[in-house]
Amino acid sequence: MHADVIVVGGGHNGLVAAAYLAGAGRSVLVLERRPQLGGAACSDAVFPGWDAHLSRYSYLVSLLPALIVDELGLDLTLRHRRITSYTPVGDAGILVDNADPVATRGALGADADAWDELAALTTSLAERVFPTMTEPLLGREDFRQLVGDDEAWEALFERPLGELLEKRFSRDTVRGIQLTDALIGTFTHAHATDLLPNRCYLYHVIGGGTGDWDVPVGGMGRISGELARVAAERGAELRTDTTVTAIATDGATARVTTVDGEIHTAGRVLSNVAPTVLASLLGASQTVRRPEGAQLKVNMLLRRLPRLRDADVTAEQAFAGTFHVNEGYEQLDTAYRQASAGTIPELPPCEVYCHSLTDPSILGAQLQAQGLHTLTLFALHMPERLFVDDREGSLAAARQAVLASLDSVLAEPIEDCLAAPDTIEVMGPREIEASLGMPGGNIWHGDLQWPFAEHPADEGRWGVETAHPNVLVCGAGARRGGGVSGIPGRNAAMAVLGAPS
Ligand SMILES: Cc1cc2nc3c(=O)[nH]c(=O)nc-3n(C[C@H](O)[C@H](O)[C@H](O)COP(=O)(O)OP(=O)(O)OC[C@H]3O[C@@H](n4cnc5c(N)ncnc54)[C@H](O)[C@@H]3O)c2cc1C
Repeated sequence: MHADVIVVGGGHNGLVAAAYLAGAGRSVLVLERRPQLGGAACSDAVFPGWDAHLSRYSYLVSLLPALIVDELGLDLTLRHRRITSYTPVGDAGILVDNADPVATRGALGADADAWDELAALTTSLAERVFPTMTEPLLGREDFRQLVGDDEAWEALFERPLGELLEKRFSRDTVRGIQLTDALIGTFTHAHATDLLPNRCYLYHVIGGGTGDWDVPVGGMGRISGELARVAAERGAELRTDTTVTAIATDGATARVTTVDGEIHTAGRVLSNVAPTVLASLLGASQTVRRPEGAQLKVNMLLRRLPRLRDADVTAEQAFAGTFHVNEGYEQLDTAYRQASAGTIPELPPCEVYCHSLTDPSILGAQLQAQGLHTLTLFALHMPERLFVDDREGSLAAARQAVLASLDSVLAEPIEDCLAAPDTIEVMGPREIEASLGMPGGNIWHGDLQWPFAEHPADEGRWGVETAHPNVLVCGAGARRGGGVSGIPGRNAAMAVLGAPS
């Protein structure tokens, strides 16, 4: 068939692009390889026989602009969490409770003032920077003017993040809490001079103009479900089970071949797949560096929440926010060094969160009545390279190490709390790649990029362009891509629609 626009990949960003373009009267064909739309933003009944629809991959939302929700008329509820985080320290811990700033300051101790100051800095940054994510790119100098704070610019955009954390905070635990935002899905360390941790940190503190990470009511599948509904209602054709095997373009018309040998043509192709995948579909002679993912994702269904070692905090408080496990600053560095040397970290840093405490609707009524809960664990510093030889054995070893790490901060083994022995799912980078097509299991489709033009020629553009004028990136691999945001999807649609750029 012929369409004005073919979207390769039906992840949430592809659906955003399709919804905008179909709404503007373009004929749109979305081709998705999996049986289900949404890519990493989906919900699944992960455990057969259990009526629990978990956000299987991504789970919290920060970067989705209200602008997109409003423009597309999405029926979504993003629930704010009262508890931001809990970090066990011995038999006590640091609870960051938005509703109780006095107690939070007490828990942060000597670092309370520095914590509040950095929060004020990142909030101010978020308010200024986030609105630009859905506008044509600013140049570096204009962006710096926008930030309007030379000290903040130097610390966050010019110098390794570790310097800021070490200068501002005295406690290893507090430094570690901050550093985790710079390491999610990103195999790097606090003093990396390529500033990759800074970029990752930035994406974690600017979302929505606040940096808050909210719970999508109904799970991640609700977001993609809403996007698919709007795209389809506006006339986009959404095809699942349709793998694209090749893209050819002469710059004006593109031919898209699918696995069953069908050929579709379009004036424009929007790529929701990672840049490496796009390069191979285009048969590009110049190869794009294959990215490397670095996380272990564990999904669990529990019959009850585990008991804590800290008597001053309830499990309901501790697991409502992000529960940091062995994510001290030194522990993060040790784990990075061990993984760099080719071994699974002895005490993997990880973070855990319970969706069903904030939103029980992902559980069937019976499971809710029985008090069951879901638990999501995201472990850092598990690079793909650790799983290349003996994939199954490495995955089993990583699982064991991660559960032992979690157990080390609990008063009882987590496996004693599972609803059944098999209500646990463990996925390393290779499993993520196999299921979602994210190369190397990299959750951002590649290294996160600065949200401004790094070359003058890109100023005023949308950050979605490729070497081919009629092939644009509409997924996480675009500049200002990464995360559940819809931003690159909208930006690609704006580029197609010729909005001022
Ligand atoms: C385990 C995990 C946890 C995460 N946690 C969070 C989180 O809590 N919050 C957050 O904001 N972000 C999180 N992320 C990152 C976030 O989910 C992704 O960056 C984002 O969803 C990417 O969206 P996308 O639409 O650009 O791409 P994808 O979701 O990767 O979608 C791309 C689509 O293209 C399809 N495809 C691939 N190849 C082909 C082909 N040849 N033909 C046709 N279709 C193809 C894929 O099947 C997929 O559906 C997480 C990611 C993972 C994996």
